[in-house]
Amino acid sequence: MHDIGHFIGGKEVFGHNGCERQAPVFNPAIGEVVANLSLGNADILEEAVEKAKKAQPAWVAINPQRRARVLMKFVELLHHNMDKLAKALSLEHGKTISDAKGDIMRGLEVAEFCFGAPHLLKGDYSDSVGPGIDMYSMRQPLGVVAGITPFNFPAMIPMWKFCPALVCGNAFILKPSERAPTLPMMLAELMSEAGLPDNVLQVVNGDKEVVDAIIAHPDITAIGFVGSTPIAEAIYSRGCANGKRVQCFGGAKNHAIIMPDADMDMVSNAMIGAAYGAAGERCMAISIAVPVGEETAERFIKAMKPKVEALKIGPYTAGDDVDFGPLITAKAKETVTGLVDRGVEEGAILAVDGRNFTLQGYEKGYFVGASLFDKVTPDMEIYQKEIFGPVLSTIRAESYEEALVLAMNHDYGNGAAIFTCNGDTARDFANRINIGMVGINVPIPVPLAYYTFGGWKASGFGDLNQHGEDAFRFYTRTKTVTSRWPSGVRQGAEFVIPTM
Ligand code: NAD
Repeated sequence: MHDIGHFIGGKEVFGHNGCERQAPVFNPAIGEVVANLSLGNADILEEAVEKAKKAQPAWVAINPQRRARVLMKFVELLHHNMDKLAKALSLEHGKTISDAKGDIMRGLEVAEFCFGAPHLLKGDYSDSVGPGIDMYSMRQPLGVVAGITPFNFPAMIPMWKFCPALVCGNAFILKPSERAPTLPMMLAELMSEAGLPDNVLQVVNGDKEVVDAIIAHPDITAIGFVGSTPIAEAIYSRGCANGKRVQCFGGAKNHAIIMPDADMDMVSNAMIGAAYGAAGERCMAISIAVPVGEETAERFIKAMKPKVEALKIGPYTAGDDVDFGPLITAKAKETVTGLVDRGVEEGAILAVDGRNFTLQGYEKGYFVGASLFDKVTPDMEIYQKEIFGPVLSTIRAESYEEALVLAMNHDYGNGAAIFTCNGDTARDFANRINIGMVGINVPIPVPLAYYTFGGWKASGFGDLNQHGEDAFRFYTRTKTVTSRWPSGVRQGAEFVIPTM
């Protein structure tokens, strides 16, 4: 058991006078406390912001290439420490070691994309737009910015936030999830080791109290949030009302449409990983399968059932013998099993029931077995709500059009996939669906670092996406300069607005 503080001034610190509240951090596989986390408050945030404000001007004065070199060193350190990082991540989150490495790699890839900062931060230049007049634009950082991140990707999402923000020349304050705080602290330490000056990246741990202080702080100019939709929506509206630039990414209910011509072997293999990987605790997990036609639905359930029943569930320490681990908290376990109960009450067919799963020696862990529902209908709570657990709901559609409209009418709009051999249908789906990230025979269409990531509807609030070029737009503002060097051009006073 150890204490976890905050990362300020290039080192771990604990709150003032030791009077901070604390929260337990669990190992979800055994249901035991492994650390006590300091929960910060407005005073600690104030200290971090003051230090960040002092550090940021010197950081932005370093040229972009040199800022990128800090990230290059950071990436080297991530590779070097990969095993240690993955183990620490799995201990608090519960995901398998190979999945934890994927979590780190997906963040690392965004750090690599940021190596291109000197190019991505270039402005435009037009010479001679008038007599002796040139015009150019430049991208400048926002100053001190903050990120608030969820438990389910403790490495990837903090990196998606701080790598582009820092390389653009901002100072960054990270408020990670209080359920998986170790990785963000380790990442901040590695950034220091990579050469980042003190106070340019700080971690202030905590809960709603710190988040409220971030939203209220006048010197924090932008907030990037990832988490559940109700919190995303609230932070977006309160942050905007306080004059900040805000982007908030929320929950999901991702549909996969399975056309009669799809190869069912390929579909069931893809769906098993997409629905149950990481115990379904992924915003891009597929949680709704929509087979088109009764015959497709029968084949789908028949192909899925044995695969779902054969899933291996266990602690990360069991290595590659395990497909997925426990849920994050006892409360999450209760919510997920409660929703499966609800689905049964509502009349859905529970083709595979994971509620009573137990694992010898891990009876206190937050494990839930994999469940598969059939004959779900749109009015059911299990269709409407994000379950965020190892539960796949099948809703049968009579036609492609009905399946498409179902996905389009759902509140969430993070990701969607279609399985088909027909290019026309796939193209129509990609064009018409009102969802941010689309897969064609790809179940988890997470865009790579050089494209942007973001959902529509209740899955995303704000104009710009995460990573890719949007991140450089979000973390900078554009200044446009019009300059005149009047070599012989002399003009009198002008009272009419200049035009081309
Ligand atoms: P969460 O909303 O509970 O927490 C996210 C962050 O908000 C944490 O840092 C937490 O401390 C803070 N927070 C929680 N309650 C708060 C409150 N009342 N006021 C202020 N701050 C608060 O989310 P979670 O359970 O950590 O993560 C899972 C959710 O995140 C799922 O809904 C998932 O779909 C979503 N998610 C979305 C994306 C995406 O890109 N769209 C990616 C990953 C996860």
